[in-house]
Amino acid sequence: MKLSQLTTYLESLAPLAYQEDYDNAGLIVGQPEQEISRALISLDCTEAIVDEAIATNCQVIVSHHPIVFRGLKKFNGKTYVERVVEKAIRNNIAIYAIHTNLDNIMEGVNAKICQTLGIKNCRILAPKHSLLKKLVTYVPQSHADEVRNALFNAGAGNIGNYSETSFNTDGTGTFKGNDNANPYVGEPGKRHQENEVRIETIYPTILESKILMALVLAHPYEEVAYDLYNLSNQSQQVGSGMIGELDYPLDEEAFLYHVKEKMHCHVIRHTTHTGKHVKKVAVCGGAGGFLLKQAIAAGADVFITADYKYHEFFDADGKILIADIGHFESEQFTQQLLYEIITKKFTNFAVRLTEVNTNPVKYFI
Ligand SMILES: [Zn+2]
Repeated sequence: MKLSQLTTYLESLAPLAYQEDYDNAGLIVGQPEQEISRALISLDCTEAIVDEAIATNCQVIVSHHPIVFRGLKKFNGKTYVERVVEKAIRNNIAIYAIHTNLDNIMEGVNAKICQTLGIKNCRILAPKHSLLKKLVTYVPQSHADEVRNALFNAGAGNIGNYSETSFNTDGTGTFKGNDNANPYVGEPGKRHQENEVRIETIYPTILESKILMALVLAHPYEEVAYDLYNLSNQSQQVGSGMIGELDYPLDEEAFLYHVKEKMHCHVIRHTTHTGKHVKKVAVCGGAGGFLLKQAIAAGADVFITADYKYHEFFDADGKILIADIGHFESEQFTQQLLYEIITKKFTNFAVRLTEVNTNPVKYFI
């Protein structure tokens, strides 16, 4: 199949618009029209991974971390980033990264950590703002159902566990077409009054063009009147980190033991025990220190993340147990997640999980 079929599917689940500003997720090397039959899944895209792709005849590498973050100015093979990109291009291997956009969705990296640790009733710890908009349109009563259906089918009207949400008020619309007009009702040159329904609904900004297209196609008028509003509402389905609960409380030592075992950690760096039992748990795969305030505010007993620095541990301040389990360890199941996502959709497409451990951190025990 074409590479674009794979990337379009991945982006329908984890849209690129959901990535953080600093990120570089998406197709980094390769052409969307390129034919592919095998993909290699990895957490990092290193030279060893490109070599594995060549040896196993994979035409695309799907990795969590983007190999390129900043602009590359030279290709002299002096850095591993240059060498990876050069080798991939020379061997016609595409590189695709699905990074913070996969972190920020409900069924992403953090859901996998929660699932592994038995954390239930999960919700996004820091929901994103301003990803939703509101559409208001005015439709003759005879076509209100048709337009509502078209909008819902295009992805409008979803709020949490509810779909097809809208608000409708009856009113009177007026219009007068000029000589070039061909009005659906009434005559050109005469003001017409029509019984209309004002339909209001909400939609994710990324679906705007699809929703407007559906509106125009379903609406009977030559000129469709609509208003678009920016909303500052939070998107409960999109954002950083996750918080949930254990089935039953554990003391802190027992909980850390549980994490060490399930997440295959060599070591966990943690703050002083608070003396409380652990019931509510916040998690963020990778470097999640920026979410500590939200974790404390949400009443988490423990915050599991990675890449904590010495001074940042003090911020626990007796309020929460911070557990730094290691960046690679926190995200190791992301490979499995990508494997499941892709194989579920494409049954005639070979997906291979890397056999290379790309963790650059070694433990001397
Ligand atoms: Zn990471």
